[in-house]
Amino acid sequence: MQEKALEDAFSQKVNLDIQHVEPKYQNYIVVIGESMRRDYMSLYGYPTKTTPYLDTANGLFLNGYISTAPNTITSLSRTLSLSKGLTYEPSINFVNLANSAGFKSYWLSNQGKMGEFDTPVRKFAILSDEEHFLKNGAYDGPINYQDSELLPSFKHALADRTKQHKLIVVHLMGSHPEFCHRIKHDVYGLEDKELSCYLSSYREFDQLMKKMVGLLNMTKQSYSLIYFSDHGLSNSHQKDQLVYMSHGSEHKSNYEVPFFMLSSDSHQHQLINKPVSAYHFLSLFSDWTGITSKKVTPLSIDQINDKNIKVFNFTNMVNFSDLAPDPAVKISR
Ligand SMILES: [Zn+2]
Repeated sequence: MQEKALEDAFSQKVNLDIQHVEPKYQNYIVVIGESMRRDYMSLYGYPTKTTPYLDTANGLFLNGYISTAPNTITSLSRTLSLSKGLTYEPSINFVNLANSAGFKSYWLSNQGKMGEFDTPVRKFAILSDEEHFLKNGAYDGPINYQDSELLPSFKHALADRTKQHKLIVVHLMGSHPEFCHRIKHDVYGLEDKELSCYLSSYREFDQLMKKMVGLLNMTKQSYSLIYFSDHGLSNSHQKDQLVYMSHGSEHKSNYEVPFFMLSSDSHQHQLINKPVSAYHFLSLFSDWTGITSKKVTPLSIDQINDKNIKVFNFTNMVNFSDLAPDPAVKISR
């Protein structure tokens, strides 16, 4: 039923009754990460330096962002469209919001274009004015592209001489299993190969962020970039055994993800400790872009006051606080 509603909603662009448009920046970038847990980032205190650039980068870093759900489709459909949990309203989504406000929208992706697990997210791409996929088939197709291969099209979108404000969405493969296939180099060389490759994917992501900020600064136009990961992973870790990381829904770590904002006028590294549910994403997006619509209430991080966050665990809405802990595995170097 929900899938049918999704199909219908995406059959055409929907105008979302825009009331007011007052963007602070020229260019808005939304980078959607993949399978990245917050607690493996040195940015949030992991003892091994996995995010050396972000550790000191200027921007606003939220420690407490909780994804809506534990895998790509369930999470992104509930994050990027209006949702209170079990269901969502597909037509009220961030791309339609930007389009309705007169922004030019771009969707750049290293995920799949066509496949059982790709089609629901692809629909956001189709709504965009321009879409560029590195892969033609499914997300796990035969050729593995590096996320950094999206940089030329990112540069191209930035160079587009439109007078419109821009929304550029960059959808990464990030830290999706299989990690050792994902990365260019294993920089840690641990005996625990799986963990070593997983952490290496964080390092490559960190470098990608540095390069994207470099390209943004070169435009001399004002910008703001939001990054979040779609969901985390479970460690499935037994004492004295190798770590096996996989999708799951029963641990806090399946939902504890990074969220940060890097802007042309950020002049300090600011860490905010506060629980914020990703169910607010559309409200945050509305506040961030200065786009107000009757359909969405704009909210800043300061205005959000989440007490009992619930997440969708594939079947039900459950209390995040009731989920089992699954702490990061520390490595000895
Ligand atoms: Zn995912």
